[in-house]
Amino acid sequence: MPGKTLKVLWVSKHKLLREEQRQLHAYAERHGLELQLDTFPQKLPSIEWLVHRKVLPGGYDVVIAVLPLTMTAQLAELAQHHGFQLWRPRVGLLHYDRKLPCPDYDEDRDILSPAADADGKAVYVHKRFLHFEKVVAVEVVAEPVTTP
Ligand SMILES: [Zn+2]
Repeated sequence: MPGKTLKVLWVSKHKLLREEQRQLHAYAERHGLELQLDTFPQKLPSIEWLVHRKVLPGGYDVVIAVLPLTMTAQLAELAQHHGFQLWRPRVGLLHYDRKLPCPDYDEDRDILSPAADADGKAVYVHKRFLHFEKVVAVEVVAEPVTTP
């Protein structure tokens, strides 16, 4: 009899970093599960499409996605409703690099993305993957500014 499987769907045009793969494997192992990792690198038609055409038919336990906030909110709601988990990578900002290569660059964990500084000069945003976190809900925190 095959062991139990943790089915994970990675939804991003970016490939998984080596450290992301390592932490997923370690998580599955810690829970006595066999990791099945599938990727969906294409452009998403919609969240509804993702859930009803990929996630539910595929029987995924976990969807890992980096999406705009409105889409994350929608996916988090559907995850609660249908009983799968939504995770996202937690990434920390290290600094901005004006010149590459950066001496701190770690290809297993780091992401460099081109950007512009306040003066419009080209820089690279140097970020580092830390861990995965489960998205429970997306909330707007607001306070009243007028009185009735
Ligand atoms: Zn750097």
